[in-house]
Amino acid sequence: MVLVDMHAAHERITYELLKVQSDNQSVRSQPLLVPIRLNVSSAEVIAAESYSPHFSDLGFDIEPLGQEQLVIRSVPESLLREDIDMLIRDVLSDLIEYGQSDRIEDARNEILSSVACHGSVRANRKLSLEEMNALLRQMEEVERSGQCNHGRPTWMSISLAEIDKWFMRGR
Ligand SMILES: [Zn+2]
Repeated sequence: MVLVDMHAAHERITYELLKVQSDNQSVRSQPLLVPIRLNVSSAEVIAAESYSPHFSDLGFDIEPLGQEQLVIRSVPESLLREDIDMLIRDVLSDLIEYGQSDRIEDARNEILSSVACHGSVRANRKLSLEEMNALLRQMEEVERSGQCNHGRPTWMSISLAEIDKWFMRGR
């Protein structure tokens, strides 16, 4: 029996997909039909501006609209979802809290990790059978899918012998 931590697994998949695409400069960016305006703090506007080249590397188009407002015009295709505003808020607050890197590679990775974490299914969501199957197929394809970005395992297996022991069988 194999148990999968779906957040950890999805996070690794999102991370690897975006990383490969941004390495090859082949991120598919999807313009939003209706750009999203976000009221944020001035510190968040500054963070969005200073990380702007890295955001666009990853397929985001985010611009300041004033001292306390941002507009999101496009997002990576692989991340199209309803709560993009929430995702951007979470990523910006991560950047303010942890990210102060001057190194380009580090800065990009910080955004990448944060996007992957906040852009992946939450642990308490119920996946449909199709979604579960899709996740397992992606895990087979994606590199390093056995570990999430935080270094935690994404799955573990329990042998039949172990399960038998729980039920005091085969003694
Ligand atoms: Zn996470």
